[in-house]
Order: sequence, then C-alpha cells, then structure tokens
Amino acid sequence: MSGDLAAHVPCRPSWRCAACGAAWPCSPAKLCLLAEYKGNMPGLMVYLVTLREEAAEQLAGLDSGERPANLHVRFTDWVPARSG
Ligand SMILES: [Zn+2]
Repeated sequence: MSGDLAAHVPCRPSWRCAACGAAWPCSPAKLCLLAEYKGNMPGLMVYLVTLREEAAEQLAGLDSGERPANLHVRFTDWVPARSG
C-alpha cells in the first residue's frame, strides 16, 4: 500500500506526478507526506517550501504560466496548521 503511495513523486521540470500525472503534490502524494511527517508538520512545511522554490525556478524556465502565488497554494496551503 505504502509502496503505491510512494510512487507519487514529482517529475522535473514539469512537476507533474510520476504515477498519476496530476499537478504535484497530488492527493495520494499528500496522504503519503502526511503519514511520513505525522507529528512533524513543521518539518513537512520546510520540505514543501524547499520543493516549492525548486518548482518555481523550474516552472518559470518552462514559461508554463504558473505563478509563485499559485505554487504557494498548491504546495503548502493544504498542510494542517497544527500537528494533530
Ligand atoms: Zn500522483
């Protein structure tokens, strides 16, 4: 089960999911990350911000129309504010 979720990783530089093709992080990727960082939401945020900055650079290079504001929502706004 976790092996399936672990396949949902971002392809670079498109930042689409390698498993399902959705804009990463897709729903399975989010579930996987939440499980991996359970009790460590700050750590997850640090990880996602790092990826967001990498994605922003690469997507800007592609001129795909993505904007940092959208990436903020996409990469980090879904993370629960508190670690339950
Ligand atoms: Zn996926």
